[in-house]
Amino acid sequence: MSLAQVVSCLDGYDPDALRVDKAREAIRACIAPLTAGERVLVRKALGRVLAEDIVPKINVPAHDNSAMDGYAVRFSDLEKNNSLIEAGTAFAGKPFAGKVRLGECVRVMTGAVMPAGTDTVVIQEVVKKEGDRILVPQGQKRAQNVRYAGEDLKVGVPVLRAGKFLRPAEIGLIASLGIGKILVRKKLRVAFFSTGDELISIGRKLKAGQIYDSNRYTLYGMLERLGVEILDLGVVRDDPAKLKQKYLFAKSRADVIITTGGVSVGEADFVKQLMAELGEVLFWKIAMRPGRPMAFGRIGKAWLFGLPGNPVAVMVTFYGVVRDALLHLAGRSDGEVPLLTAVASENLRKVPGRTEYQRGILFNEGGIWKVRITGQQGSGVLRSMAEANCFIVLEHARGAVQAGENVSVQLFEALA
Ligand code: AMP
Ligand code: MG
Repeated sequence: MSLAQVVSCLDGYDPDALRVDKAREAIRACIAPLTAGERVLVRKALGRVLAEDIVPKINVPAHDNSAMDGYAVRFSDLEKNNSLIEAGTAFAGKPFAGKVRLGECVRVMTGAVMPAGTDTVVIQEVVKKEGDRILVPQGQKRAQNVRYAGEDLKVGVPVLRAGKFLRPAEIGLIASLGIGKILVRKKLRVAFFSTGDELISIGRKLKAGQIYDSNRYTLYGMLERLGVEILDLGVVRDDPAKLKQKYLFAKSRADVIITTGGVSVGEADFVKQLMAELGEVLFWKIAMRPGRPMAFGRIGKAWLFGLPGNPVAVMVTFYGVVRDALLHLAGRSDGEVPLLTAVASENLRKVPGRTEYQRGILFNEGGIWKVRITGQQGSGVLRSMAEANCFIVLEHARGAVQAGENVSVQLFEALA
């Protein structure tokens, strides 16, 4: 099926005023996750996507053990006699080898295997020592302060599923099972280039009308933090022959091609023609601000995202639409960014009928999290992104916001 056929089946799909959530849904309907994997050392798996289920072959912990420093006892002994004989000591990694007889206890350290016959640990702070006898006060509970074998991870019960993004906790957990290498998804290869006759790369002197290309730097940063393999293809002039050459080069080397610029009305026509000639491309006017025009499609096997040129629009469309597509393609199942609630500390301008991503500063005042905007919100003002620490996401149907109303925010730190 062509992309156009796939997306036209979606309810409420309107390419001339496409809601952001519909754009994400449309892309997901078109692309299937890439499945190629590779086996890597556990530490190298940090920031990668798990490609297999992790099913423990051992229990963690492997044995019942003490959760505290104290004395391992047989609980039923305490009912008869609260004075026990200390029969020996067990350390973490050095179990007590003997047998614990009736009326005896064993000194245990945190992590020590529970000596055979004992079922309860009394913490050292509450006991009294009298010669080789240990006096245990009333009020102990059966099985207190014991960690059971398999309490953390159980043999045969899957603990991580394919699709999980691997953070420090996950790689530690995998290591706790004694697993040295795991299967992860191959990194996505993402190529990108900027388009525009006015753009020059840093290191050269600006002539009248020229600007430095900043989009390749923000894109580099956003992609690097998502953990993809990056191919920076530089700046391409607004010249169909050069653009064509670059698309063809990019599609032979990458799973995804991202371009910025050249999709607004002025230039769209020839870019459109060119893209249509090379592959299949859908042009969307997304009901979002900033970031209205956007192209999505494919050239050969490579997926294509044609983002607008304005620097803030690039970041907003990337975080609002492209990021989700890349995570889906990378096989990630847990990439949704939480929307948090904060109190607007000032009035915010907004018209219904589009989702707005205003640049916000989340701050705490008197124990309450509030948010204000960074000032100038033009889609060319990249400073507004640098000053902000969050997006204020104003929903599609919402109108102007009064100070004191709740709004949704997305922390930049959560977007990586
Ligand atoms: P376009 O979408 O090509 O019409 O570009 C929209 C605006 O974004 C214009 O003012 C461009 O100069 C600017 N722009 C486009 N590409 C870049 C870039 N790579 N870096 C900085 N600004 C850009
Ligand atoms: Mg341009």
